[in-house]
Amino acid sequence: MTALLADLHIHTALSPCASRQMLPGNIVRACRQRGLNMIAICDHNSAANVAAVTEAAKRETGPALKVIPGIEVTTREEVHVLGLLPTLEAAVSVSTAVLASLPNGKSTSWGYSTQQLSNPVGSHPGCRQWIVDAEDRQTGAEPRVLAGASSYSLEEAVFQIRLHGGIAVAAHIDRRAFSVLGQLGFFPGTPQFSAAEISAAGAARGRREERWLEAFRQHGLPLISGSDSHCLEEIGCSCTAFLVSEPCFAELVLAIRGIGARRCAIA
Ligand SMILES: [Zn+2]
Ligand SMILES: [Zn+2]
Repeated sequence: MTALLADLHIHTALSPCASRQMLPGNIVRACRQRGLNMIAICDHNSAANVAAVTEAAKRETGPALKVIPGIEVTTREEVHVLGLLPTLEAAVSVSTAVLASLPNGKSTSWGYSTQQLSNPVGSHPGCRQWIVDAEDRQTGAEPRVLAGASSYSLEEAVFQIRLHGGIAVAAHIDRRAFSVLGQLGFFPGTPQFSAAEISAAGAARGRREERWLEAFRQHGLPLISGSDSHCLEEIGCSCTAFLVSEPCFAELVLAIRGIGARRCAIA
């Protein structure tokens, strides 16, 4: 068994609320500095930068930093759901479906034409949702408003993630905004979440302590924590430790379920 330190909730410059410094090379270097072994890239409603971060990690660290393809879906109830997927292709499939469900999903809502979007860096400075390559170059921009809600219900979003072999995590359940509890006022018996995430801010305020965790465990889900990084300084500020036989998605899922000797715990 191997012990891994994982931060499974990191945004890139594709998310409009994230720093423009959240580029693949910068993210990988920050992860190495913080001693992380596994990360998940979870931008709002899109997985368009997952491939670039995966390539940058392979190039700079070899197998030392495993990147799990992910997405943070905003449901029509304005609940954030983390989708962790087994492959890049699965993440892109979920992303494509979610993007198509956004308001103005088939048009360029910020006024950029398809031609403008295919232009290189700097040609559309007004759009902050950067699509980048592994060398930190901007190759395009997402014109649809990623910070908005998709038209998927909570059930539909979780179904979509599971349909593609992924697991759904109820994001930052201790926060009032954009969490299951905050938006619905209760934790529904369905859909089938695989885990619930304690926010970095909550963990910093002591919510990783046993007396707090007991309250969150009443929802019957394994608990993890991620940084929800929107800037480089936040990467790794809240993590989950995993005991697995190898650093891969399948082992991650088994560890969350506590199968065999595998384990996970908020670090
Ligand atoms: Zn969120
Ligand atoms: Zn987030």
